[in-house]
Amino acid sequence: MTETERTNLQSSQSPARDVVIIGSGPAAWTAAVYAARANLKPLVYEGEPVGTEIPGGQLMLTTDIENFPGFPEGVTGPELMERMRTQALRYETEVRSELVTSVDLSKYPYVVASSYSEPVVALTVIVATGAKAKWIGLPNEMRLAQHGGGVSACAVCDGALMFYRNKVLAVVGGGDTAMEEALYLTKYASEVVIVHRRDTFRASKVMADRVLSHEKVRVIWNTRVVDVNGADEITSIELEDTETGARSSLEVGGLFIAIGHEPNTKFLNGQLDLTAHGYIKVDPWRTSTSVGGVFAAGDVIDDYYRQAITSSGTGCMAALEAERWLAHHAGIGESPILETAEGPVPASPEQVEEPPADRRSIPRSRRESGAPR
Ligand code: FAD
Ligand code: NAP
Repeated sequence: MTETERTNLQSSQSPARDVVIIGSGPAAWTAAVYAARANLKPLVYEGEPVGTEIPGGQLMLTTDIENFPGFPEGVTGPELMERMRTQALRYETEVRSELVTSVDLSKYPYVVASSYSEPVVALTVIVATGAKAKWIGLPNEMRLAQHGGGVSACAVCDGALMFYRNKVLAVVGGGDTAMEEALYLTKYASEVVIVHRRDTFRASKVMADRVLSHEKVRVIWNTRVVDVNGADEITSIELEDTETGARSSLEVGGLFIAIGHEPNTKFLNGQLDLTAHGYIKVDPWRTSTSVGGVFAAGDVIDDYYRQAITSSGTGCMAALEAERWLAHHAGIGESPILETAEGPVPASPEQVEEPPADRRSIPRSRRESGAPR
């Protein structure tokens, strides 16, 4: 018997869950609030600490959030996440502090396996596992990033804070993200210094030209950052010339790491279609994926906005779509009414069929079975 067959057999003993949500950032908790208020009793796998990945998501790594509506005085990242979690628990949400290690989307209903407890059977799944901003791995990088000490992986999020105003700010990276971050920071910094490990940018020419012609930007080529100095706040960065090995230091008031992001999709083991950059592919203006009844939300589908509020927005969409999917395909609950000027919106782009009486006969993957979503 294969591991998958054993897992499916074990899980067939327990009752199926209407909605299983994987992740614990703004997308997951918003999806949980909506699903719970729709009486779907969602089960959330919030993960467990692994390196810089902490239950609560990326906002656990930052201090002040000044752009999440509803908090005119700002709110810390950990407090915002705690409040979202508490709101989800206020309704009937069950939380497991475990990582999802694998999912089986090859037959319906789906099976979700995690670190410690028995696998569960899921009628719908919402993937909200986010993305990791890549860090360099410097000895003092995380220490200063986690306590608002002037190291960040998100200029749009942190750049406008008073802490960074009128200071020399360093940006690491040579791709489009680094170009965007550098240009954004020119609004607040006295000078932006891009430190890049080679002598050419990887970024598109138009972005690179815009950066290179900006009066506030200077580039240090062929150089890598090897450490950050500062007790509670950054004071300087240590540099190493990649050609000569010569060491120097540069006084800065902030360091922005912009070397790319990695969406958290490994546990899916290729069962959902991904974009060229590894993000989960969803239908336009929907959160439906290549497999029927599986939805995705937050940074794991988004290499463009990458914000808490947009993650919450797509988390809301995923829960509403899951609710509609269950109503149409499993006869569970009532579909939330979503109407446009042209009339009711179908649950999927294709014509929706009558729900089958037996949940177990629900079609699974559109890709494999041609079933409606
Ligand atoms: P994430 O926040 O990425 O969280 C997903 C979480 O799911 C993971 O951390 C992990 O705990 C869990 N998970 C992952 N895999 C599994 C698994 N297999 N099983 C179970 N659980 C799993 N945005 C703003 O709008 N304003 C800001 O001020 C701001 N500041 C930021 C500062 C920093 C330093 C960073 C890095 C980002 C910042 N952002 C900010 C961006 C914001 O954090 C993200 O856009 C947002 O958190 C994405 O939310 P998400 O729900 O997609 O998931
Ligand atoms: P990227 O293209 O992979 O670039 C990452 C950059 O970081 C590279 O210059 C790389 O150096 C550098 N780097 C990687 N690891 C490093 C390390 N450990 N230390 C120092 N430097 C390191 O990633 P990205 O910039 O996030 O872009 C990803 C994709 O999104 C791209 O296709 C990009 O075009 C797209 N994007 C588009 C826009 C836009 O159009 N507005 C904005 C953002 C992103 P090397 O060059 O030496 O490898």
